[in-house]
Parts: sequence; structure tokens; C-alpha cells
Amino acid sequence: MKTIDNLNFQNKRALVRVDFNVPLNDSFEVTDDTRIRAAAPTIKKIIEKGGSVILMSHLGRPKDGPANKFSLQHVVNTVKKLTGVDVLFSDDCIGSDSYIKSSALKPGQVLLLENLRFHKEEEQGDVAFAEKLSKHGDIYVNDAFGTAHRAHASTAVIAQFFAADARCFGYVMAGEVASIDKVINGAEKPFTAIVGGAKVSDKILIIEQLMSKANNILIGGGMAFTFVKAMGGTIGKSLCEDDKLELAKELLEKAKARGVNLYIPNDAVIADNFANDANIKESDINTIPDGWMGLDISNGTIKTFSEVIKNSKTILWNGPMGVFEMSRFENGTKQIALAIAEATKKGAFSLIGGGDSVAAINKYHLAEQVSYVSTGGGALLEYIEQGSLPGVRAIED
Ligand code: AMP
Repeated sequence: MKTIDNLNFQNKRALVRVDFNVPLNDSFEVTDDTRIRAAAPTIKKIIEKGGSVILMSHLGRPKDGPANKFSLQHVVNTVKKLTGVDVLFSDDCIGSDSYIKSSALKPGQVLLLENLRFHKEEEQGDVAFAEKLSKHGDIYVNDAFGTAHRAHASTAVIAQFFAADARCFGYVMAGEVASIDKVINGAEKPFTAIVGGAKVSDKILIIEQLMSKANNILIGGGMAFTFVKAMGGTIGKSLCEDDKLELAKELLEKAKARGVNLYIPNDAVIADNFANDANIKESDINTIPDGWMGLDISNGTIKTFSEVIKNSKTILWNGPMGVFEMSRFENGTKQIALAIAEATKKGAFSLIGGGDSVAAINKYHLAEQVSYVSTGGGALLEYIEQGSLPGVRAIED
């Protein structure tokens, strides 16, 4: 894998696609700088190697061209603070001002271009737009894992305008690609995948892919109830996708045929209402009474799942085990997170990915106790489903 460590940046302008799609408050202040913090080592390294840096990113989803609330001007100060370098700004990523500034850039200097999505050609993957962007740099660096599953102008199409030895991954991309690769191509066995979250329909492809790779698949969260009902259980008013019952049955059969242990919870914390102050009790998962819904896995399931996890050498976790945002339904998710941390301590490689499992691992302050926390939810899932991503192929091909 070619990274910024392999290229010479001396007196070169590096055009770096970053993911600065950060949340802003009503005063346009950055409220979570994780993504900028993550890109800082790449920026600093290029400067250290004698290059200059032109940063390009999207922010939010502007619909009709430029709009102040989506301006990357709002992140300039945070980039300065986290890199320790002065940051110039240009208010149109392909305007004449941007070319004047990028061509005059001296080694050690950083220029941030305005939101790429102010031009609809970005998301359309327009070749002419990508070519215009490419004029800003001598070397193309992709460090935006969060958008690597999109074949946009700046994330994939642009790569063709740089020679194979003038394009590479930044550290964020390299870290993500290496850890996913370790899980999907080089997993040490036993490999356990834990899949949770609300809907089966969102996770069908990933479960199917994992069938050919994992030894154990643990199913939790709202999606488990579609499996329970498919097997003939009574689930009360728990979340269920009735149009996916057949598919759930097929997945169960497929797992059996392939010798994969597909675990469905055997008990649940049930509630008479989707609220933290609801009446709650424990229930066998197959006999949830009318008017009640399962909102977390309970002790029997936690015990079984934790044992499987602790005996694993590779672990992938996507999606919470219950409604962990509410304190009375968070125990299952928390215990699974703790089991993953314990397995990691014993030498397992653990990859956590997908928005809500990342939120959970952070909530329990366990991010430092797992091997890798992915920054790109959609990109991670798609990478596992498809085996590659447009933004990765563009650099490698
Ligand atoms: P996803 O985005 O598909 O990973 O789903 C995450 C969401 O699923 C979280 O907001 C959880 O609160 C929700 N969730 C997890 N378990 C359940 C459940 N048993 N019933 C309803 N929602 C759930």
C-alpha cells in the first residue's frame, strides 16, 4: 500500500482530499473536531517532508451552490490549531483566486479550498471538474475514508490525472484500509462478527459476506426480532421487518450449510413502552407477551455472547445490542463492549465500525482498549460488502 511515507514531497504541492465534514453549532463553531484531528498527522508529515498542502473537502449537504452555513471557512481556525500551521483559504475550489493561491504556495504552507459540494459536479463525479481540481497539486493524497465509498470527482475520478507514483493514501486511509484488510482477508481464527442495530435490511449484505469469512456471527439489537419471529417465536410489539422473514430464514439456513455459528439472542429486556421510564422485565426471547417489546439483550445472551467473544482472535463489531441511548437498555451493549476490550487485552484484533457502535465504545470510554475504531460507517460497511471501495481502487489501480 502506497502512503505518504513512500513519496518525495520536497518542493511539491500535495493536493489532499480530507474529510472535514464536521458538526457546527448555531454560531458555526466546530463541536466535534475528531475528523480534523485525525487528518493532522498527514498534513504535518507532508510539511515535514518539504511539501506544501492544498486541502479539499466537503461539508454537509449543500443543495443549491454556496451557502454560508456549509462554508469550510468555519473550520480554518480549528485546522490551524490542530496542525500548528497558518492556513490560507480560498472561497471557490476552482475559482481564479484558488489557482493564484495554490500556485504561489511555498513549502510549509497550507491552503484550504472552499466546500467541493458547492459545485454539483463533485457528487456527479464529473471528469472535467476533477481535472480542474487536479491542477492544484503535483501529488494527489486521499485521506478521506468517510467518503471513499463514493465515486465523486475529488475522491476517485481525480486520481486518473496523477501518475501512479504521484498518488497515495494519507495516514487515515492507510490505517482504515490496513485494519479492514486484516479482518476481511487475513483474520486469525476464530473470527467473530457482532452485528446489531435497528434493521436487518441494512445489514443483509454484510451478514452474507461475513458468512464466508467468520466462524461466529452474533446477532443483537432490533434486527434480532425478525430472526426470532422467522423461527416461530412470539415477539410482542418488538421491532420487526415482516417482509424480511423469509430472508432471515434463508440466512439461518445458509449459516447452517456453511458451518457458521449464527447466534440469535435467547433472552431480552422487555418494556411496555419505548421509553426509559417504561415498565421493564426479563423475558425468554421466544415468548414476549403482547404489548411488550424487546429493547436489549438480557443476562443469558450476554453470557453466551461474551464467552464467544473472549475466545475469539479477530472481532468485528457493527451495531448496538439494544437501545443503548437509554440507560435502562444499555447494559447489553456495554457488556459486549467490555467483552471485546477483554478479548483485545488477551491478544485479539478488534475492529469497531459503524456510527452507533463507535458512539457506544466512546460512551463507555473503551476506544483505547480495542484495536481500531473506524471513522467511516458507510464506507466500512461497503468495504466489507464489496471487498473494495472506489476511493481505494483509484489509488491502487
Ligand atoms: P443502526 O443505525 O442500524 O446500527 O441502528 C442503531 C439504532 O438501533 C440505535 O439507535 C438503537 O437505539 C437502535 N436499536 C437497537 N436495539 C433496538 C431494539 N431492540 N429496538 C429498537 N431499536 C433498537
